[in-house]
Amino acid sequence: MFLLSEDYLQIRKTKKKGFGVFAKKRIKAGTVIGDYLGKVIKTADYDLENDKHGLYLMLLTDEAAVYPDLKKPGIHLFNHSCEPNCWIYAYLGHTLFFALRRIEPGEELTISYLLSPKSENCKHCPHDCKCGSKFCTGTMHLSEDKYQKWQKFQNEGKKKTEKVKFTFGKNLPKLLNYPKIIPKNPIYAMISST
Ligand SMILES: [Zn+2]
Ligand SMILES: [Zn+2]
Repeated sequence: MFLLSEDYLQIRKTKKKGFGVFAKKRIKAGTVIGDYLGKVIKTADYDLENDKHGLYLMLLTDEAAVYPDLKKPGIHLFNHSCEPNCWIYAYLGHTLFFALRRIEPGEELTISYLLSPKSENCKHCPHDCKCGSKFCTGTMHLSEDKYQKWQKFQNEGKKKTEKVKFTFGKNLPKLLNYPKIIPKNPIYAMISST
């Protein structure tokens, strides 16, 4: 679900990556853009065949994940980039997307999918990256050192999420209130040092 109004965002086809989300107006650093809503499922029950249609599963904890309704436009349409301008923020058992820096009109909004380093498990790897960034590694899989770094950071957020009770098989309900801005937190410094 988008939390910014339609004046700010546009969904359109990209050349190589299917649909993408673009800024229509300048978006300030820290701005909360959306909440990753969908059905709460058991991570273990997830059918990996679904990944053929794109990577949409969002992990909330080791056990719980959210799968969005692909028929509705939403922040699941964010594409992966090796140099993303948005990031994930774990908040009360939800996954918010926020702007890591100022985003100018016309720019595509992107996120890192934070895929684990390439391994045997991904034999016929469909995760080539076409982000077009100067720093593109050609794959959505992170390098070992980057991955370790994010794991460490995400685990901090996860600890808080573990206290939240999820109802499996139901849609994750909207929160009553959302923060407008994610204040300065360690992620800003971590990103600029990559
Ligand atoms: Zn892969
Ligand atoms: Zn890339």
